[in-house]
Amino acid sequence: MRTKLDPNAIVNIPCPQCGEKTPQTVATIETSPRIRCAKCGVMFGINAAKLMKKLQEAQAKMDLEQRRF
Ligand SMILES: [Zn+2]
Repeated sequence: MRTKLDPNAIVNIPCPQCGEKTPQTVATIETSPRIRCAKCGVMFGINAAKLMKKLQEAQAKMDLEQRRF
């Protein structure tokens, strides 16, 4: 089963250099997984597949908890 992620959902991506979180939409991460940190200016790539899997797991867990209550 695959949980569909909202493409407009905002994900905070932490910078590998300074730790500053850069908000990106799911759509952006899926199409161009390269981000420039607003704080230190470093460019870094995101492992989109890995991130999406993690988000889907979190989403699935949330759905499960919502069903419980
Ligand atoms: Zn940074």
